Amino acid sequence: MPDPAERSFDAVVVGAGFAGLYMLHRLRRQGMDVRVFEAGGGVGGTWYWNRYPGARCDIPSMEYSYQFSDALQQDWEWTERYASQPEILEYANHVAERFELLPHIRFHTRVTAARYDESERRWQVALDSGDTVTARYLVMATGCLSVPNVPRMAGLDPEADNVYHTGRWPHDGVDFTGKRVAVIGTGSSAIQSLPLIAEQAAQVTVFQRTPNYSVPAHNARLDPDYVADLKSRYRAFRARNWQRGFGADFRDSDRSALEVDEAERLAEYEDRWARGGLAFLAAFNDLPFSDAANATAQVFIRGKIREAVNDPEVAARLIPHTPVGCKRLCVDTNYYQTFNLPHVRLVDVTEEPIEAVVAEGVRTTADTYPADCLVLATGFDAMTGAVTRIDLRGRKGQTLKDKWQAGPRAYLGLATAGFPNLFLVTGPGSPSVLSNMLPSIEQHVGWIADCIEYMQSKQFTAIEASPDAEEAWVDHVNAVADLSIYPKCNSWYLGSNVEGKKRVFMPYLGVPPYLEKCAEVVANDYQGFRLSSRG
Ligand code: FAD
Ligand code: NAP
Repeated sequence: MPDPAERSFDAVVVGAGFAGLYMLHRLRRQGMDVRVFEAGGGVGGTWYWNRYPGARCDIPSMEYSYQFSDALQQDWEWTERYASQPEILEYANHVAERFELLPHIRFHTRVTAARYDESERRWQVALDSGDTVTARYLVMATGCLSVPNVPRMAGLDPEADNVYHTGRWPHDGVDFTGKRVAVIGTGSSAIQSLPLIAEQAAQVTVFQRTPNYSVPAHNARLDPDYVADLKSRYRAFRARNWQRGFGADFRDSDRSALEVDEAERLAEYEDRWARGGLAFLAAFNDLPFSDAANATAQVFIRGKIREAVNDPEVAARLIPHTPVGCKRLCVDTNYYQTFNLPHVRLVDVTEEPIEAVVAEGVRTTADTYPADCLVLATGFDAMTGAVTRIDLRGRKGQTLKDKWQAGPRAYLGLATAGFPNLFLVTGPGSPSVLSNMLPSIEQHVGWIADCIEYMQSKQFTAIEASPDAEEAWVDHVNAVADLSIYPKCNSWYLGSNVEGKKRVFMPYLGVPPYLEKCAEVVANDYQGFRLSSRG
């Protein structure tokens, strides 16, 4: 049992990734007694768990970082255009130490359940240690991509010593030298790790269900002159760019792909391809909205895949037929080229479905592919997985799992009706995964911290999203999504990567209007929320 003083907090935060760390810092600065519970053994969240070879961010490091402390961003030195997982993890540890956060985090502790006590207006939070703590406020900083999606396959034991999910990679690394490796999945994690696995392994067999578009990263050491110049105007640079969704590197265009002639269009695509990175998607302003505009980008990338892959049959299998960006665009270093190596082969599981994982390797309907180890690059139960795995019960004992059965419902992705004093960081219905997540996390944490401060100052003891405001917001999120290409393929944005999950588009498309809406809600005394005092 924890010490009695350790049982009651002003706020409990679940998760010690970038969201949980900053939430802790903000609330402590407001003088609150806060405790963070983290299932893992250290801070960093995504960057603590995803230690597979090649893991790195796909947002430029100079913008994939906090901006709440000018001193921090001046002091920290990123070494590469896209920081590697060890460097990002080191940064998270530095932040935790620098702001003296560690004493307030309990590691190796999973929150299993939480129940809102209506009479006390407090959350009772159950831990896997068997302890229960209470708090006025409960903040879910549980991550959008923190629950691995493990496919159901006959014979697959995800806990076996030779099976590695990219999102739960062993801390000591894996030596694939001389090994025959089967990789399942061809999303961002596979696309980053495959080239490095293939450098070591004796043989690699990649099992692909759906091909993905990938743009070269052109990762490189950061030029010290570039860094010095940016740092000389860092605060203003970040302030100008963070509200743009994916940051300065995106170089948003105000032109339609259809208003320019083919030569100009190709020149723009070539330029973006040569510079590399996700900014390819911003080449024209209608790529996410117009099928015809998007088709021009599809044709361009398909040509690049054919150029990169020597065997036309393999190239054909690697070519996606979905809109570009409708599944998250990937960023790679030598992904397509890796299929030219003699010891790397591609198996299309739509042609020959996997039947079972067997002692010799992976058996499909056509063959058995020998493997000594299996890499599951099969993604995550995204956006809702971590929250619905906690037995969350709001007013009248309603469970969040039941409430979200037909898809998540949240007001601004920050709160959900029926669950007072519960906040979600980058929850469904907010831009979250459709933005540079660090600024989005900072914006959400700032909003939540300000809201709590407002409540304290006005002596409110409960805040809850109103069902009407929530319904209107969810309808709006869907209406915007329906104008876009996003619902046109199966993706984790829609939950369609997880068996049995309701197909609903979860993030909100559009950072600037979202920020405006959040500010408007505050300016109107938390419009759409019900605030109340005890008694
Ligand atoms: P997380 O980092 O996921 O942290 C959540 C934490 O909560 C985890 O440590 C988890 O263990 C803990 N937790 C969950 N449930 C419980 C529970 N019940 N009890 C206790 N603890 C719990 N985003 C970008 O913007 N740019 C990128 O380049 C980028 N690259 C990525 C690369 C990979 C491989 C992945 C998987 C994601 C990437 N993302 C990227 C998204 C990334 O998740 C976010 O940028 C960010 O790190 C999320 O921080 P977070 O704190 O919200 O969540
Ligand atoms: P993902 O994009 O969901 O990819 C998972 C892959 O596994 C898909 O190819 C999927 O096929 C396949 N798969 C799943 N179940 C399968 C099954 N039963 N049989 C065969 N194939 C199966 O997951 P991820 O690659 O881990 O990436 C998730 C997100 O994390 C990314 O989109 C990105 O936001 C973030 N991320 C970013 C980076 C980066 O570059 N910074 C790197 C890694 C991850 P289907 O497509 O057919 O479902």
